[in-house]
Amino acid sequence: MNKFVSILGSTGSIGTQSLEVCEKHGFVINALAAHSSVELLAEQVRKFRPRYACIYNEEKYAQLKSLLSDVQVELLTGMEGLCRIAALEENDIVLNSVVGMVGLLPTLTAINAGKDVALANKETLVAGGELVMGLAAEKGVKIYPIDSEHSAVFQCLQGNKREQVRGMILTASGGPFFGYSYDQLRNVTKEQALHHPNWEMGSKITIDSATLMNKGLEFIEAKWLFDLRPDQIQIVVHRQSVIHSAVEYNDCSVIAQLGVPDMKIPIQYALLYPERLECPTKRLSLTDYGTLTFAEPDIETFKCLGAAIEAIGRGGAYPCLINSANEEAVGAFLHDKIPFIQIGEIVSSVLDRFEPSSIRSYEDVMKADTAARDYVRSIIG
Ligand code: MG
Repeated sequence: MNKFVSILGSTGSIGTQSLEVCEKHGFVINALAAHSSVELLAEQVRKFRPRYACIYNEEKYAQLKSLLSDVQVELLTGMEGLCRIAALEENDIVLNSVVGMVGLLPTLTAINAGKDVALANKETLVAGGELVMGLAAEKGVKIYPIDSEHSAVFQCLQGNKREQVRGMILTASGGPFFGYSYDQLRNVTKEQALHHPNWEMGSKITIDSATLMNKGLEFIEAKWLFDLRPDQIQIVVHRQSVIHSAVEYNDCSVIAQLGVPDMKIPIQYALLYPERLECPTKRLSLTDYGTLTFAEPDIETFKCLGAAIEAIGRGGAYPCLINSANEEAVGAFLHDKIPFIQIGEIVSSVLDRFEPSSIRSYEDVMKADTAARDYVRSIIG
């Protein structure tokens, strides 16, 4: 397939799996961008020969340049580099899998340039959902979700009438601390939190899965992606991660998407839509699983999830505020500055700390982002 793909976040878990999918289907890699994994990026450039490569961390630019001194490629750096790649004329699709708020501006830039986006960066829609979806509609740009849950919903919507959807079921693995009481959460370690039962992912999203913030962010994303009211989205803990999510229609029929927990399936669907070609993954054997289980999420114990649902119900800047507070708190936890349990306390305290405000521009998002981070830093000290 002669599709031109640019990948932002190419050295992360989604990025490397995306390259595998692109390689399998013969896509042309137009540009690659990474945060700071300069050696892996250089390796990828040698292998895939993109026209552009960007290292976000400007301190690593010189190193990238020397690593690739014998390769013909235009090197870029910083947010300017990311945005330049996002808007390249040759792009057929921009895959955005960078981590954190950094992903929002490149997404907006790609949409502004009329480029379809395969979106794995959660913060784009959590912090800027209204802006992003409004701009995408205006520019006629398609957003293809890469998250397994949203890809599942997107797949379950195919061939049906949007106005006949009653709601959706967002499944959650429950993370490593499913069933824990609030007291039990007090003593969990970083090593335990970084060990997810089903998915191999980067450290930020793995911690978000342990606090259930990840499901809260996905809840918010689902609202924007599929134009649903919060009361139309039900979260169900499904420990095996085989049913990736489902859509309920007015006739009470529920259509679900199943598969092994492997991100290459949603990545490939986003890049190849609507084609379903062979994917470099395992086939699902239901009898290997034997039993699939379902339970209610515990939003009292996992405060992040409760806070995220409350935030999108309130609207305005609240989703952005809790997201930025969470990013800051997770960073502090990963640097051993706060215990695990404090992440949820910090995130939920944002709801009381900030007055309602609205998001009308990228600057509004950035303002809320800074305010939330300053607040968290003032607590952590
Ligand atoms: Mg997910």
